[in-house]
Amino acid sequence: MALLIPGKESPRNDIDIYLEPLIDELKVLWTSGVPTYDMFRQETFTLRAVVLWIISDFPAYGNLPGWSTHGKLACPHCNYKTESTYLKKGRKYCYIGHCRFLPMLHVFRRQMKAFNLSDEREQAPSPMTGWECLQRLSILQFKYGKTPRKEVEDKRPPPIPTVGPYKKHSIFFKLPYWEHLVLRHCLDVMHIEKNITKSLVATLLGIVGKSKDNLNARLDPKLMGMKSKLQRKFVNGKPKMSPGAYTMKPLEKELFCKVLASTKVPDNYSSNISQLMHVKEKIVNQLQQLGDPRATDDLVALANGPSKWCQRYKIFVCNRFKFKVRGTQSNRKYQNYGVFLQSDVPSYASLCDWNPVIGLVNYYGVLTDVFEIKYHIERIMVLFKCNWFDGISRNTGHGVKTDRYGFRLVNFNKISSPSDPFILTSQALQVFYVQDLIDIEWHVAIKTRPRDFFDMSSTHNHDPCDRQDVEQATGHNDEVRVRSDVDAQDFEEWL
Ligand SMILES: [Zn+2]
Repeated sequence: MALLIPGKESPRNDIDIYLEPLIDELKVLWTSGVPTYDMFRQETFTLRAVVLWIISDFPAYGNLPGWSTHGKLACPHCNYKTESTYLKKGRKYCYIGHCRFLPMLHVFRRQMKAFNLSDEREQAPSPMTGWECLQRLSILQFKYGKTPRKEVEDKRPPPIPTVGPYKKHSIFFKLPYWEHLVLRHCLDVMHIEKNITKSLVATLLGIVGKSKDNLNARLDPKLMGMKSKLQRKFVNGKPKMSPGAYTMKPLEKELFCKVLASTKVPDNYSSNISQLMHVKEKIVNQLQQLGDPRATDDLVALANGPSKWCQRYKIFVCNRFKFKVRGTQSNRKYQNYGVFLQSDVPSYASLCDWNPVIGLVNYYGVLTDVFEIKYHIERIMVLFKCNWFDGISRNTGHGVKTDRYGFRLVNFNKISSPSDPFILTSQALQVFYVQDLIDIEWHVAIKTRPRDFFDMSSTHNHDPCDRQDVEQATGHNDEVRVRSDVDAQDFEEWL
């Protein structure tokens, strides 16, 4: 695949000229193909290729498909249905109408004061098909290259028909299949995520110059007649800004920074099992799950019992997660000891209950050891020994709780009795724990997903975060919140 590294000056729209030879080759690869030699089979075959989609960052989206990423229709997903409004004081467009993407009965759709004073009844817009793009582009006139000096000098160039944010006819439409693709372009979210996180953190910490909560952000709502509690106020003749629900006290900011600094996450980038240890130890006589009972070899192996010798591991990779035993890496940068397990557990209403209800129960724990048990005829079973946090099954114990935002917290001082510490490695999923620095015994458990792993089944929800009950957290309270326990700030600080 061709690689284009622009020099000091980006070719911008003219990148199509550089892509022309590549497009010609791709057309050949699609239509007639090229004879290619297969070394393994030692024969020649016709190689054909197709571009499934192109991936770029957001600025390059303006140059490749030619959709302007500035102005009032900058959203490539909402395209002509992008909802935006111009902020006169902030002197920029802001994009609204995101509640369209929520379920129709979601509480945010009805909250007017908290958003832009209108309730949202629209459905989410759908992306344009290739055919629709071509319809729009059919009347577009554009030129490659820089605008000639004469036209620049003449301050009123002749009007050019425009089709909204389109700047050009993308060269990829020269590929015969391009208009039929459902997904033509993917955005690399690296910069987008970084920029949003940077703005969010700067706003939470109130970093002057970087926070999005600045003087203009307080003046624009006044012009728009909304969020009166957050508008600029005068106290004793001095302009003040009331603290928003997101404004933090100095101590809270310090805690926030400490949490970020102390958080250790799993490292999913290495797959080497290392630091193998051998010990003389017999561990379990009974296995919790025996696998497929029809497997005769397994039955024979199990009937003969395990070898009296086993191996211990400090690091073990399974289910695409890399686990490390706690204590071996406490001072290291990463945290790989969090274990999460979901299991069907029968619950009985009473001692005489003959119809137990089977329910899915979540278990959170810490990996303390890994044993590899050997059976005859080379059957191997690997078990995780874990400390499980207490009270998981009924959510009434003292070891696990759910806070009002839906986060699952575990208490590191409440470990359940060690009667059943083992699980099969096939059952283990990974979590990491982030300490609550206000209530230091408690740690938020955050599930992780294996890197570069995509489960295409649609029957399961693979969201790594537990579903949060926004309605419960906001309490159906449609109002703009300000903090009464934080002093209002002077505006001079922002000038
Ligand atoms: Zn959008």
